[in-house]
Amino acid sequence: MKHCRKCNTTKSEDKFYKESHRGDGLALWCKLCKNEANNARAALRRRKYATDAPSAPRSDLSDRYPDKDLKPVDKTAPNPIRVHILLPVGKAG
Ligand SMILES: [Zn+2]
Repeated sequence: MKHCRKCNTTKSEDKFYKESHRGDGLALWCKLCKNEANNARAALRRRKYATDAPSAPRSDLSDRYPDKDLKPVDKTAPNPIRVHILLPVGKAG
C-alpha cells in the first residue's frame, strides 16, 4: 500500500504510476490525482489558446516608418545603387 500525498488516501501500489527515478519506483500522487492534475493543466492550456488573439500579421515597414515613402523592392530590377570606391594605389610623388 502507498499513501497519496495529494488526496491523502492510502491505496494499493497499482493505483500509482511508475516513476523509476523515485525511491519506491512509484509516483507521489495516485493515478486519479495525476490524471486530475493533467486534465486541469490541459484545460488551462486549451483556455489560454482559445482566448489568445490570433497572431498579428507581420507589420510591414510602412508601419514602422510611417514618415518614409517606402516602395516594395522589385527583386527583378538591377540594383540601382552601385558604390565604387577608388583606392589610391601606391604613393604619389
Ligand atoms: Zn491521490
